[in-house]
Amino acid sequence: MPDLIRCPACNAKVPADAQVCRNCGNIIGELVCPKCGSKETEKLQGMRQAAYAVIFGSLNSFRAYHCRSCGKIFRPK
Ligand SMILES: [Zn+2]
Ligand SMILES: [Zn+2]
Repeated sequence: MPDLIRCPACNAKVPADAQVCRNCGNIIGELVCPKCGSKETEKLQGMRQAAYAVIFGSLNSFRAYHCRSCGKIFRPK
């Protein structure tokens, strides 16, 4: 059974190893690129976000991040 912590933003319970709160999308701890390990990540916004949401097929709950170092698009767990 995984440990649970509280999201500092909305107080929802989230797994201790989660990078993002599934309830409100708040980033918990530090988000690093899964490819190169860089912390220079930013949330995809606007049209780019919408385009990737179509590719991944989940418009509503979709949150993607972009690595500024290597350009990888990834979804935090
Ligand atoms: Zn939250
Ligand atoms: Zn990267």
